[in-house]
Amino acid sequence: MTAAGAEGPAGPSGVSGDGKAAGCELCEAARFTPWHHEDDLCWVADCEACDVPIVVWNRHGIEPPQADLERMLATLKTVADRLFGPEGWYVDRNMRQIPDHFHAHGRANDWLQRRNRFR
Ligand SMILES: [Zn+2]
Ligand SMILES: [Zn+2]
Repeated sequence: MTAAGAEGPAGPSGVSGDGKAAGCELCEAARFTPWHHEDDLCWVADCEACDVPIVVWNRHGIEPPQADLERMLATLKTVADRLFGPEGWYVDRNMRQIPDHFHAHGRANDWLQRRNRFR
């Protein structure tokens, strides 16, 4: 992996040509936590609040096409299986904090205890 510079200009008017929305935390995709995966469809990083991986769509919106949705969940599964084991986690598609940009958490079954232990 090489350190990339700016990913491309975001227009001053808000949503840029590639479907990003200005001011959206997930569109900005700030790398404040380790990234596990990145491709043209989505990226997987640790959720800052939960300490579990989240898969985030590369576009701003909440209804990815079914094929893309399945690919994103499969990507999340690859990462979460590696971290927690195939039986050790579940998909949480509740988008409490950022309801207008698709993302899904891969929560370890004991993620609350894990979080408390580290804080
Ligand atoms: Zn979270
Ligand atoms: Zn967004």
